[in-house]
Amino acid sequence: PAHRQTVMHVKAYYSYEPADDPYLPCRELGLSFQKGDILHVLSQDDPNWWQAYKDGDDDNQRLAGLIPGKGFQQQRETLKKAVTDRNPDNPGKLWYVKKIKKARKKSLYNPSRNVECYTEDILTYEEMALYHQPGNCKRPVALVGPANSGHDDLRQRLLSVEPERFVGAVPHTTRSPRATELNGREYHFVSRSSFETDVTAGKFVEFGEYERNFYGTSVDSVREVVNAGRICVLCLHTRSLRVLRSTNLKPYVIFIAPPPQEHLRTLLSKEGRNLKPEELKEVTEKAREMEQNYGHLFDAVVVNSDEDMAFFELLRLVNKLDAQPQWVPSSWLC
Ligand code: 5GP
Repeated sequence: PAHRQTVMHVKAYYSYEPADDPYLPCRELGLSFQKGDILHVLSQDDPNWWQAYKDGDDDNQRLAGLIPGKGFQQQRETLKKAVTDRNPDNPGKLWYVKKIKKARKKSLYNPSRNVECYTEDILTYEEMALYHQPGNCKRPVALVGPANSGHDDLRQRLLSVEPERFVGAVPHTTRSPRATELNGREYHFVSRSSFETDVTAGKFVEFGEYERNFYGTSVDSVREVVNAGRICVLCLHTRSLRVLRSTNLKPYVIFIAPPPQEHLRTLLSKEGRNLKPEELKEVTEKAREMEQNYGHLFDAVVVNSDEDMAFFELLRLVNKLDAQPQWVPSSWLC
């Protein structure tokens, strides 16, 4: 058959398994996908069931299948959420199942009835478009990961290996300059009140307090690196991603994931860092939590099971930003 036109490209913000979906008109027709997958939508003629295929299966549109439409998925997730929110001990589960069975009998599914809808909060899909970064305007690279996942070391290594290419943003601080320090070089030295005003105005990507002084990275200092044609490398908390993504800097977010616990223990002890079992567990737990809550904002994941390998994988990803267009939210290109 002739190649069909794609109506939209989306990034899936949830994982989907057709075998577990009782509403799918025909199970064999469903397309399974993972959170983070790019999907090419071929048809939205049925608003409840879009036809799509996965990125990478391009030469084989025959692998297209049905996926839940955005509105449909949001509505049923809202219903599930409303039930669990109302009944923390979940006695409403039965009610939910009964309601579904009844709706199915009537082959009618209208989860919006009787339910307050906050559908916009439900993550389903984001429309994406291809973006090729210009040579003089590089996307900042944000490394995120739990403490001890090694993202700080990887950042330092990038900065020291190619200092002309990779640059850190000059942070702000409220502490006084030391004798050798120059305003605007090591730090932007500012007063506490000026720092607080800027934080309130949303000018900081991230900030923290250390020994009674504030430190932070402003959007403008990231922009300065970008305007100089360099790649700004940042280590960020996951909660800072939203701020950075709301600028027009188009950050490329890489999650540095720790290897399995036993491997991580060996790795860290080689560096003379001996973590207790509960500390190791915390690294893994934290990583899982970050992926759960922010995984949809990651552009790539690098498992740090070997520092050299992780470093070269990181370099490969960053080089790819120059070589190939990448998927970004289409709202970024307006
Ligand atoms: P120093 O005052 O010795 O230059 O830095 C002390 C500490 O401040 C650093 O070890 C680091 O923990 C923190 N710090 C430096 N720059 C930043 C920054 O941009 N953001 C945050 N949150 N902390 C920083």
